[in-house]
Amino acid sequence: MQNEVTGSCNLIIVKLPSEETVRFVVDCGLFQEREYEEMNSVLPFNAENIDFCLVTHVHVDHIGRLPYMVRNGFFRSIYATETTCKLLPLALNDSFKVLNSVSKRKNVKSLYSDVDVERTLELLKPCKYNETIKVHENIKVTFLNNGHLVGAALILVQISYPGYEDINLLFTGDYNNKNMFFDVNPIPQWILDLPLTVVQESTYGSMDSSEIHRCFKYNIKKCLYNDGTVVALVFSLGRAQEILYELRNMQKSGELDVQIPIYFDGKLAIRYTDLYIKDGLDVKPEMREFLPENLTFVDKASRSNVLMDTHKKIILTTSGMGSYGPAQTYIPEYIARENSLIQFTGYTAEGTMGNRLKNTQLGEMVEVGGLIAKKRADVEYTTEYSAHAKADEMIAFLKQFKNLKLVLVNHGELTTKKIFAERIMKEVDPKRVGILGREYFFRVDSYGLVKTLSTKFE
Ligand SMILES: [Zn+2]
Repeated sequence: MQNEVTGSCNLIIVKLPSEETVRFVVDCGLFQEREYEEMNSVLPFNAENIDFCLVTHVHVDHIGRLPYMVRNGFFRSIYATETTCKLLPLALNDSFKVLNSVSKRKNVKSLYSDVDVERTLELLKPCKYNETIKVHENIKVTFLNNGHLVGAALILVQISYPGYEDINLLFTGDYNNKNMFFDVNPIPQWILDLPLTVVQESTYGSMDSSEIHRCFKYNIKKCLYNDGTVVALVFSLGRAQEILYELRNMQKSGELDVQIPIYFDGKLAIRYTDLYIKDGLDVKPEMREFLPENLTFVDKASRSNVLMDTHKKIILTTSGMGSYGPAQTYIPEYIARENSLIQFTGYTAEGTMGNRLKNTQLGEMVEVGGLIAKKRADVEYTTEYSAHAKADEMIAFLKQFKNLKLVLVNHGELTTKKIFAERIMKEVDPKRVGILGREYFFRVDSYGLVKTLSTKFE
């Protein structure tokens, strides 16, 4: 598993030939790794001077500091897709609650308040996919389909000035070429023909799609065969719904007995699931029915019934990395039981419960939820549901563009970025490849600068 790095934020400074300076931000996320946590309170720019903000998608490492930016004086428009705008109230209010509980525990001031969240939501400007909008006298923006998450977008920014060549920037945010819940439309030809600079994520820049190890179904069947309990950790948005659909498919193909109960516990995950069903969120009509049979929604009050049930069962719960939410109840309960499986279905950042359990051997002591327990359960990890394209898929994505002037690699571990940058140079052959790092500036054409703050540092 590669290290992914959270806390995405790109600052773009455009010095127009008229001497006017335009500054905009693409994403403003929270750092989730413990070692970078203190960086959350340092905004690397003067928020009052930012002319507009663009949001690629609703993951907390891309949006978690928007209210902090507002608290620090940002008051202009935040552009995002219509679906992202529908999801942001849930996502930001949840982020506020998590930050608030952490700061209470540490006895420090919270990064922002619920009022800052409200003020942030008032600045949202919902945008349609493929529609080009003017956000400044000299700047146009187009949101394009992206398989990473419902509502996610690739963002094209076109900067023009009379007598000068246009600057065209494409931000991938987190990128995936496919999604089981919606179709990912091809990029329009007029964009493929543009002279272009791509700011490309590289989470899986050193791993090809052929290297994915598919073990989820096997692990689950093995545990249930032994009458055990499966605790599957999921992210509330995207992953939870994918796993529900996967379990439904397993029931349909006879791989999973419909008599085995499935419990789904996680307030935010249940609310997102409800939105998928009721609102649609760009989900294909045939995918609206994705819930498995014998599914019970669990809340705080009914949780004890699940914990007391000794029969074989599947518990789907949050948070995806195991450090927050009902996972804090289920993991301590099942970690010490031999016939249990604790299955992580996504990335587990450093310092999280998921990461800690990875580094604990069977039979060793581990501290979970204030308890010291002997690790007896199987703890498994899989990358098969990852919402990021792999290196070969990202290369294929880049190869579509006919006139790549510059590719700037960001959002990945340093060594991964280097490996991926070299591969781009070899296989895609753009004019230039750059690696974005902490406070790196990159000059784009004659008058554009990109500064990124989203990467792992040496
Ligand atoms: Zn993401």
